[in-house]
Amino acid sequence: MDPLRVVVVGAGISGLAFAHRVQALAARARRPLQLSVLEASGHVGGVIRTLRWGDCLLESGPDCWAGNKPAGVELCRELGLESDLIGTRPGVRRSFVLCDGVLQRLPEGFFLISPMSVRALLATPLLSPLGKLRMGLELLIGPRAETGDESLAAFVRRRFGRQALARIAQPMIAGIYTADPEKLSLQATFPQFHEMERTHGSVIRALRAKAADAAGAELARAAGPRYGMFVTLKQGMGALPGALAAQLPPGALRVNSPVAELRREFGLWRARLGDGDELAADVLCLALPAHASARLLGDSAPELSRALGEIEYAGAAVVNFVFERGQIRHAMDGIGAVIPAAENRRLVAFSFSSVKFEGRAPAGRVVLRAFLGGALRPEIAALDAAELTRVALEELRDLVGISGQPLYSHAAGHRDAMAQYHVGHRGRVERIRAQLAARRGLCVIGNAFDGVGIPDCIRGAREAAESALRQAGMSETGQVSTSQLSADRL
Ligand SMILES: Cc1cc2nc3c(=O)[nH]c(=O)nc-3n(C[C@H](O)[C@H](O)[C@H](O)COP(=O)(O)OP(=O)(O)OC[C@H]3O[C@@H](n4cnc5c(N)ncnc54)[C@H](O)[C@@H]3O)c2cc1C
Repeated sequence: MDPLRVVVVGAGISGLAFAHRVQALAARARRPLQLSVLEASGHVGGVIRTLRWGDCLLESGPDCWAGNKPAGVELCRELGLESDLIGTRPGVRRSFVLCDGVLQRLPEGFFLISPMSVRALLATPLLSPLGKLRMGLELLIGPRAETGDESLAAFVRRRFGRQALARIAQPMIAGIYTADPEKLSLQATFPQFHEMERTHGSVIRALRAKAADAAGAELARAAGPRYGMFVTLKQGMGALPGALAAQLPPGALRVNSPVAELRREFGLWRARLGDGDELAADVLCLALPAHASARLLGDSAPELSRALGEIEYAGAAVVNFVFERGQIRHAMDGIGAVIPAAENRRLVAFSFSSVKFEGRAPAGRVVLRAFLGGALRPEIAALDAAELTRVALEELRDLVGISGQPLYSHAAGHRDAMAQYHVGHRGRVERIRAQLAARRGLCVIGNAFDGVGIPDCIRGAREAAESALRQAGMSETGQVSTSQLSADRL
């Protein structure tokens, strides 16, 4: 039997998870596979990268993922990494939000943008009495008549008021989507809130009902973003792409191999590398930011390319610092803080990384991680590493009371790395999927479609691999459909 030629472009978590699933399905079907994973940079993992300085472990991209979305944990299980999974340290699962220049604890009993009870609402120091009253009126405000998409900002303003948007919702969602809430699609990011409004007439009422059942009781105990559910790997996030890359067939991974051009010819996809080498593929998977996929498809699939190009991206930067514990005045009795845009700072958030997860720094030392940029702070994208470090240090000095200079610092800029799910996002994704359905053997995956988080990317990659191999004649149980194989050759 001819080997199935699969070419994956991009060795971030999406591309590697796709390749891993393809290998498993082909092995199960006993179908020979010729797999190539082409990566432009010199390393795997894309934005995921773990660095070490002495005994300190630093994450220059993501530092954890949501463990309640099963795809990430399942993949770790398949790779034998399950015993390396760790959660945030118990006892510090609380975070802060900057309010009028003061770090305030995020109140218990909030679920992202909404209080889960009137008591939680009354207890929060983040809102003025009028702000609380307005938020509480949510219980009395009827649902919106129109059913179409709306921005997160419009939804929060309509239901909870302006202060709740500026002081609670905006900073909470900035840490996840790095987005402008005025443009962020409610239906693509928090459809559950739209649903709560529709079914219960009020988000607070719906959350109270949820809190009454067992799963909800756990939600109610969490403060703001549910840090208890976030997981990472003992040896750092880089271990996940590292393990995936180690399982690739020998010679399949080619780093420093940017794909420069794509063509469709005689029923095959052809990927030309920067060095002129060319690979033919029965299945071609683009596991890139949507703008990079759009560029590559400009000639061979112009309409699809245009649709992909409509998905905007924002940049972000991560600056890690190592300090002696004594250099930081703050009690570090939480895992970090989010900074509302209304506070006019350049930081989006920061974490006490070595408090948040064990094994990040030896006793007496602290790893502090600053997150900058996003759609509301676009000027950050223009800063070089030295400037990023200066800006982050200046802000942290003020926020957590730092004396002296860091023992070590590392800045990483991620230009155009964060997909922005603007109003109408779902429609855009449907149009892209319709275009893709007409292009046999082509998959486009990544963080632009059904979720920006790592488990979302993994789930999307696995589903795309299953669907591509089904199209190529392999059923999910691993059987090969011979009629499909002969049809492929026609
Ligand atoms: C700073 C930051 C922090 C984040 N924090 C979290 C977090 O804590 N938790 C969470 O769940 N998510 C987080 N995210 C989101 C999540 O990490 C990303 O959405 C996800 O890792 C994207 O993976 P990917 O493989 O789709 O894309 P990428 O990681 O962007 O990988 C794409 C790869 O394609 C390569 N490439 C590009 N062009 C070409 C070409 N022409 N030829 C060959 N290769 C090419 C690139 O070099 C890159 O390696 C964060 C993202 C960023 C940027």
